[in-house]
Amino acid sequence: MKRSQELLARAKKRIPGGVNSPVRAFSAVGGEPPFIKKAQGCWLYDEDDKQYLDLIGSWGPMIAGHAHPKVVQAIQEAAVLGSSFGAPTKGEVLFAEELCDAHPALEMVRLCSSGTEATMHAIRLARGYTQRDAIIKIDGCYHGAHESMLVEAGSGVATFANPGSPGIPKAFAQLTRTAPFNDLSMIEAQLKKGDVAAVILEAVPGNMGCIIPDKGYLQGLVDLCTEYGAVSIIDEVMTGFRLSRGGACEYYNIQPDLVCLGKVVGGGLPLAAFGGKAEIMNHLSPVGSVYQAGTLSGNPLAVAAGRATLSLLTPGFYQKITQIGDQVEQGLRSFVEDHGLSFARVGSMFTIFFRSQAPRSYAQVKECDFQAFGRFHALALSNGLYFPPSQYEAVFLSSCLGAEEIQFLVEGTKKSILSL
Ligand SMILES: *Cc1c(COP(=O)(O)O)cnc(C)c1O
Repeated sequence: MKRSQELLARAKKRIPGGVNSPVRAFSAVGGEPPFIKKAQGCWLYDEDDKQYLDLIGSWGPMIAGHAHPKVVQAIQEAAVLGSSFGAPTKGEVLFAEELCDAHPALEMVRLCSSGTEATMHAIRLARGYTQRDAIIKIDGCYHGAHESMLVEAGSGVATFANPGSPGIPKAFAQLTRTAPFNDLSMIEAQLKKGDVAAVILEAVPGNMGCIIPDKGYLQGLVDLCTEYGAVSIIDEVMTGFRLSRGGACEYYNIQPDLVCLGKVVGGGLPLAAFGGKAEIMNHLSPVGSVYQAGTLSGNPLAVAAGRATLSLLTPGFYQKITQIGDQVEQGLRSFVEDHGLSFARVGSMFTIFFRSQAPRSYAQVKECDFQAFGRFHALALSNGLYFPPSQYEAVFLSSCLGAEEIQFLVEGTKKSILSL
């Protein structure tokens, strides 16, 4: 780790913590992050030429593997034509049509550049549309780092949120209410007050590790929103185009009012989107009065990468990646359970929880043995496996894992657990 160590020391002088997004610093697990030089397929290569099986896929986007020739070619061809115009393009129209064809909840869509923006804009739209201010967020779900969403559950039965970070005014946080995942009663109690603009959640949370929704929870939540006049927002930044071409909404057959997309949809370039019912989307400026904008929104390179990625995501693709998930689960589930851990998986997302039963809520995730997870992470890394550096994150598999890579993953994980 010689070069990576040198780079980290230099980085820390000019970039807070040496990283441009905190989880990359490995502070939740200890140890030092390798600096990545390049990636190909499902492999990462660091500055010291050590090779890792990539289990984070850039936190989701790289579902078809790194530097896929079709995606690289699309970006190259777009770059030659100019990288940003600040004016409408044909590619955006085709992309919007493709997104609406793919996703059951999308009648209209607007592009932006990050998942944070997508949820921020969707929430503003919901507030403008309903003319209500309060928002319900589910404990442990992550929707980006902005004022309404960077909050923590209040203590006790009070469900007003507290600021999740210094810099978030209490007044903002108090407009967000929280409820536990897999629990409809707290949500209904809040909705009854009649001041809730929207309920937002991840259908399969991946930001507190992979949590499986109880049967009927998602449909129940959408129905409650309809009953009380609140906008249902499914944040599919992680699950969109991952669980199926129509995301978690297709996978669980639900039809929310709005959805947010990101990660896979940009094929590794900065691109995200929010959309849903035309009746709501038409409240956006310039048709409606809810303001939202972005200089680089619909950027031609990002749209080209997104469209090229989506063109790879056929029914056969999802069959293949689900089989990869099945094989990893077959290789690991009983082993991890025999060692007092648990295994939670939906499709190509999974988490090994350092807790004997797979958690159903954030409160249960907090009971995991984080010390042991940290030791596991370091051992796995030394065995060439780049697991997410936090128990609160999910593994994202890519379609590039062949039989050999699956065996490498299963054997390396077992070996790491045995040396704990
Ligand atoms: C990653 C993520 C976001 C934030 O997206 P950024 O592109 O990092 O701003 C929002 N929601 C969910 C569910 C995410 O996983």
